[in-house]
Amino acid sequence: MQSDPVHDELKAEIRALAGQLGFHLCGFAPAVSSQGHSELLRWIDEGYAAEMDYFSQRIDAYKHPGGVLPGVRSIIALAYPYPSGSEQIDAPRNPVPSHGQSTGGRGKVARYAWTGDDYHDWIHPKLKTLCRQLQSVAPESRSRGVVDTAPIMEREVAQLAGLGWRGKNTLLLRPQVGSYFFLACILTTVQLQPDPPFDRFHCGTCTACLDACPTDAFPQPGVMDASRCISYLTIEHRGSIPRPLRPQIGDWVFGCDVCQEVCPWNRQSSRGDTQPGVESMASPEPTMTELDLHDLFTLDDEQFRKRYRKTALWRTRRRGILRNAAIVLGNQGSTESLGPLTTGLSDHEPLVRSASAWALGRIGGEARSILLQRLGTENDPEVIAEIQSAIDHLA
Ligand code: SF4
Ligand code: SF4
Repeated sequence: MQSDPVHDELKAEIRALAGQLGFHLCGFAPAVSSQGHSELLRWIDEGYAAEMDYFSQRIDAYKHPGGVLPGVRSIIALAYPYPSGSEQIDAPRNPVPSHGQSTGGRGKVARYAWTGDDYHDWIHPKLKTLCRQLQSVAPESRSRGVVDTAPIMEREVAQLAGLGWRGKNTLLLRPQVGSYFFLACILTTVQLQPDPPFDRFHCGTCTACLDACPTDAFPQPGVMDASRCISYLTIEHRGSIPRPLRPQIGDWVFGCDVCQEVCPWNRQSSRGDTQPGVESMASPEPTMTELDLHDLFTLDDEQFRKRYRKTALWRTRRRGILRNAAIVLGNQGSTESLGPLTTGLSDHEPLVRSASAWALGRIGGEARSILLQRLGTENDPEVIAEIQSAIDHLA
């Protein structure tokens, strides 16, 4: 494609505006058919998408970005940094506490959710600003901003736009920057000169992410089995978490960052609380970096909605968070959690009662009599089975 001075100027304007809006990376890719589509099909066929049916339901749309914006010619790939939590980088990785050791009933939250407000809500307006800029220069054009919500191979597009490479942990990485960022795209009918693709692979012989994953969720480098991933299990999965995986969840109440924390590129890129260029909207919200798990059991549906409706945690709803909280408390094994878990054992959600029963079975002490008492009144077959299993575990 010949370079067009008008569009070169537009690219420079878009880059500058993206930078002002807080995007620290911005690149331009051609709107072409996805090279990784067959890989996506294989991933789904292997069952690695777990219950994320939206991949198979929209599989054809992933073939070409024209499925999202007819007539699309170019894609602007953008990255927005989220808090890197560098003060925790040198802490032990995903410390699974020794049984019975109190950790104060706190649960870890993945970094991307630390910002308080759900990132979709504040990244979308930024994309709209960039779309308006495109429209002002090319009034006949159409543009659409997407962040995580449309059938676009965002990491592939980002690599094509020169932003970085896809690491063995499946995430997009960039030298000296790492992977602690949200990816977003703007699809546009404006034809823009593509940037050179990122064609180097900087993982080398490193296998830190593969080795550190608590649940062995990587069947091979660059392939993640979502059905084993803590991030999927604690956020996307709606039912009970498979029993064998519960102990591996450790302290993670929402998401998991282990395969990012151990990555040398993230360790090198950490400077202070946040990465360079982060605007205040992406600063960590202190109440979101860790959750008080005992407190969660005091919230009814309405109180939970009020507190978390605008945050990323809302995705799991109250029942998902309480399920996760019970599992973390079970892993921590502290008798201080007997009270909150007893509350959980009579929750109106069977999912919460099941997880609380499992957790009580890991604590011991008075847990056995609490479980026996509940067994007398429980009428949900799955919860009964979970209580029975917990009592057996304590025998
Ligand atoms: Fe494994 Fe956690 Fe990475 Fe999922 S997010 S692949 S569980 S290390
Ligand atoms: Fe690549 Fe190592 Fe980072 Fe994994 S931890 S993504 S192998 S550099």
